[in-house]
Amino acid sequence: MNCDKHPEREGVASCIICGRILCEECRLKLAGKNYCQSCADKLFQERSGEPVKGKGMGLGAKILIALLIILCVLALVSYLIYTVYLAPYYGSAENVMRILMNDPERIIRFLSANI
Ligand SMILES: [Zn+2]
Ligand SMILES: [Zn+2]
Repeated sequence: MNCDKHPEREGVASCIICGRILCEECRLKLAGKNYCQSCADKLFQERSGEPVKGKGMGLGAKILIALLIILCVLALVSYLIYTVYLAPYYGSAENVMRILMNDPERIIRFLSANI
């Protein structure tokens, strides 16, 4: 079998992806495996595409961090509301939680009247 690109040259290997016969010049050896030029190019394009996926993960992490910050802010705000408005009237946090579970409207009415 002769090289796919150079019919006058003897093939020394075949591409592991497309099976094209390759001469010494056409053969690209990557990590001990033989590739033709176009398959090697595709492989590198796929690899260079990986950092884009990495950026996608980075975005997910950013959204997660943003959510955590929002949760922290919400926790802080509800803590402030509790200590400033609810604690003086309803006492312990347990008491406030019990009222919230049984009659959340009471808290909402109380807060809308006081804030
Ligand atoms: Zn190939
Ligand atoms: Zn060749």
